[in-house]
Amino acid sequence: MAKTFQLTKAQVKIPIIAAAVLLAVFGVGFFAVGFDQGQIFSLIQGQDAYGQMYLHEMTHDMRHASGFPCH
Ligand SMILES: [Zn+2]
Repeated sequence: MAKTFQLTKAQVKIPIIAAAVLLAVFGVGFFAVGFDQGQIFSLIQGQDAYGQMYLHEMTHDMRHASGFPCH
């Protein structure tokens, strides 16, 4: 007795715009956690942001935990 079965293969297409948005979010997050020294907040705060480095201090432990050089 022969057994038959049907195999269904679904192709999932990821929209290019969704991939681009996720890539942009990843890039900003990667920069904020790994490299920011006040550059992001300086867009709003000006030169004071380089001295205060709020974002750097906020992500400092995560930066060290993920292995980025800091100080
Ligand atoms: Zn550090």
